[in-house]
Amino acid sequence: MSHKIIPVPEFDYFVFGGTGDLARRKLLPALYYRFADGQIPESARIIGCSRTDLDDIGYRQLVEDALKEWIKGNDLDEQLLDGFLSIISYQRIDVSDPNSWKDFERNASPTNPDRITVYYLSVSPSLFLPIIQGLKDNGLHHHARLVVEKPLGFDLKSAQELNGFLLDAFDESRIYRIDHYLGKETVQNLMALRFANSLFEPMWNARYIANVQITVAESIGMGGREEYYDRSGAMRDMMQNHLLQLLCLSAMEPPVSYKPDHIRDEKLKVLRSLQPLVGDDIRLNTVRGQYVENDNDPSYRQEAKNPGSNTESYVAIKASINNWRWSGTPFYLRTGKRLRANMAEISFEFRHAPHSIFTGLDTPIKPNAMVIRLQPDERIDLEVMTKEPGPGGMRLRQSILDATFGGGSNSQTDQGFRMPDAYERLLLDVVRGDQTLFMRGDEVEAAWCWVDSIIEGWALSGEVPETYEIASQGPAGAFELIAKTEHRWRTIQ
Ligand code: NAD
Repeated sequence: MSHKIIPVPEFDYFVFGGTGDLARRKLLPALYYRFADGQIPESARIIGCSRTDLDDIGYRQLVEDALKEWIKGNDLDEQLLDGFLSIISYQRIDVSDPNSWKDFERNASPTNPDRITVYYLSVSPSLFLPIIQGLKDNGLHHHARLVVEKPLGFDLKSAQELNGFLLDAFDESRIYRIDHYLGKETVQNLMALRFANSLFEPMWNARYIANVQITVAESIGMGGREEYYDRSGAMRDMMQNHLLQLLCLSAMEPPVSYKPDHIRDEKLKVLRSLQPLVGDDIRLNTVRGQYVENDNDPSYRQEAKNPGSNTESYVAIKASINNWRWSGTPFYLRTGKRLRANMAEISFEFRHAPHSIFTGLDTPIKPNAMVIRLQPDERIDLEVMTKEPGPGGMRLRQSILDATFGGGSNSQTDQGFRMPDAYERLLLDVVRGDQTLFMRGDEVEAAWCWVDSIIEGWALSGEVPETYEIASQGPAGAFELIAKTEHRWRTIQ
C-alpha cells in the first residue's frame, strides 16, 4: 500500500533525557523510521541532552545501540543509519545547575531563529521546572515548542500549578501534552469511521449502543517504576490520562472541523459531562485491586517493597455521561497490572435486535460489537451474526469482519504497510505544529477533577483494595460490579 510522505521543514529537536529509557525505546526509533521514510530533512538536528557524560561520538553509539535493540527485523538499513546518525549530536547538561545552562546556551542554542525548535521533556516531572526555568532564564523559549510527557500533575491542584508554570514560558499553542494512545492509527481510524461515514453515526448513541468498555490490561508488573507507581497507582498512572482520553474520542460529539481546538473542545465537553462519583456512588461504581503472590511471582506489596501499601494496581469504574447522546449507556473502564494478557481495546456493544425471527437456534444470537484494538496489535473488528455456510437449515454463527481497511498488524502486511508506532506520528506533528492529538491544559484539569473525587472517596472510606490473582481477569469485585447489570466484561486474552 502506498502512503504519502510529506517532508517536514528543517528543525532542531532537543530531547532532554536523551539517554533515558523512553528516548532509547521509543523516541529515537520513531525518529529513525521517519528519517528512513524521507520525511526528515538531512539539515535537521536531533540533540540528545542529559547529564550523562558523553560527547557526540559516544551519544551516536548509544543511539545506534538503541536502534539495534528496538528496531524490528530488517528495518534498520546501514546506509540510512549512517545518515540518521549524522544529524544526531549531544549536549551534556545538568538542568539543575545554572552554569550548565550557560554551556548549553553557548553550544546548543538554535543556529537560525527561523528554524523550528522543539524541546521534548523525556525526564522525570521533578525536572520540568528547572528545565523550563533554564530555557526561560537563557531566553531559549521564544518561538520554541515544548513537549511534555505524563504524569501531568498528581492531582488537580498540582496539574493547575504545572499548567500555570508552562503557560508562564510557552503559550498554549506551543505546548504539546503527549498521550501516545492518541497517536495510534486505530484511534485515529475511530474518528475516520465515525466522522467520514454516514453509516455509524446515526447508531452512535444510547438508543443503539448498550455499553462501551475500555480496557487497558497489562500482564507485566511495575517494570522498574516501583517507587513512582506506588505513589500513584492505576488511577493516576492510567485512568486519568489514557483511559479518559480514549473515552473522550469514543463519546464526543462531531466536532466542527478536524482542527485541534474544535476536537479538544468536544473532548472537554465529554469530561465535563461525566457524572461525578461521590459518597456511596464510589462504593457502588468503582473497584480497586492489588495482586497477590503466587508460587513464581511476588505480590504487588513485595514488588513495591512496601509491605503496608494500599496502592491499587487495578481499577474498574462504571462511568456515566450525562448528555442526550449517552444517557443510559454505561462506560465501563478498567485497567490493571499483572492481568491475564496485554490487551488494550475499546468495544462498543450494540443492543440486541428488537425481535428475533430465529427460534430454536443451537447458538444464541450475540449482540453486535465494534472493537477497536490498540494492543497487542492494532485492528478494528466488527462482530456480526452470519449464516453458517452450507446446506442443512439456518444455523447462525458469530463472524468477525476486519474493518481495519489496509494494514492489520504491527508486522508488514501483504500490502507492504507497516503500522507506524504512535510516537512517529506525534513527534512530527509537533514539527508540523499540529496539536490535534495532544491534550490541552483544560482537558488535563477536567480529567483530574473527576478522578480526584474518587481518590478522595477511597481515602475517606478507609477500605483497602481487594486482592486478585496474578494472570487473572482481575478482582471478583469487578465482576460483581458488572453483574448488577445485564452486561459482562469482555475476556482479557
Ligand atoms: P529515565 O530515568 O530512563 O531517564 C531519565 C533521563 O533524565 C536520563 O537521560 C537522565 O540522564 C536524565 N536526567 C536525570 N537528571 C538529570 C539532570 N539533573 N539534568 C539533565 N538530565 C537529567 O526515564 P524514562 O523512563 O525515559 O522516562 C522519562 C519521562 O517520561 C518520565 O517522566 C516518565 O514518567 C515518562 N514516561 C516514560 C515512559 C517509558 O516508557 N519509559 C512512558 C511514558 C512516560
